[in-house]
Amino acid sequence: MKGAKERRLVNYHTHTWRCLHAQGTEAAYVRRAIDLGFEVLGFADHTPWPYEDDFVSGMRMRLNELQGYLDTVAALRQRYAEKLLIPVGLECEAFPAYMGWLADIKAERLDYLILGNHYDMTDEGDHSAFDDAGGFYFGRCTRPEHVLRYAKRTIAGMETGLFDYVAHPDLFCHTYGVFDAECAAASRDICAAARALDIPLEYNLLGIQYHARGCEAGMLGYPCARFWEIAAEQGCRAIIGFDAHSPEQLDRLDIYDGAVAFLDTLKIERLPHLNRPGCVPRREE
Ligand SMILES: [Zn+2]
Ligand SMILES: [Zn+2]
Repeated sequence: MKGAKERRLVNYHTHTWRCLHAQGTEAAYVRRAIDLGFEVLGFADHTPWPYEDDFVSGMRMRLNELQGYLDTVAALRQRYAEKLLIPVGLECEAFPAYMGWLADIKAERLDYLILGNHYDMTDEGDHSAFDDAGGFYFGRCTRPEHVLRYAKRTIAGMETGLFDYVAHPDLFCHTYGVFDAECAAASRDICAAARALDIPLEYNLLGIQYHARGCEAGMLGYPCARFWEIAAEQGCRAIIGFDAHSPEQLDRLDIYDGAVAFLDTLKIERLPHLNRPGCVPRREE
């Protein structure tokens, strides 16, 4: 096992109890990260959206909880300033109607944003149903058209210029059976866009834990080796994300080491940290 310092542990993909499907307070994640020797622990909980109707999502904080999230992380950042860098961001889809709102929030209050393209829009119109209120979940792709749609929406998200990296870019593989021509085309398109726009792609450690637990057995799953071979060919840059939905998921340094070894084998450039104000470990500044 490597020592903590040798690993240079950073993670910008941490959830909290606020999203309703993760466990643990912000403080619990922070204490765990300090114990494990992390240099950076960034929070990127699932964003709330300013829905036009009274829809309440079951997988994200409510809009009126955003201030509490920001205040809580800010207090921890100050309290543990000597031990851990704690930037604050959000993980977001790229629903067009809300991108202006998101740009304002980012400029005023956030250190970074990650694109987590979980849900499709139900239509292209300006309506609040472009979200988990009724949109297709891209973690359930089973048909070629789902995969191609995922690629199209992911690239549109990258093109907004708002996102600092793409979370689980190969989410479309989660419940897909075989890596077919559409998967290859989607992977090439996503990776080419990431390269052209200079946006890193996340190698997602939560996906490995799903697969190791036997979730979606027999499916491709993510991270998908074939996707990452294409990312390497295209010259993409990678960043490892724990996508922690409980403090204990930060413990899996064995999986982290395996991810580093795999990416090194592919000779993909791995980002040591995000190059954004508030996101750079102190010793790199
Ligand atoms: Zn989640
Ligand atoms: Zn996530």
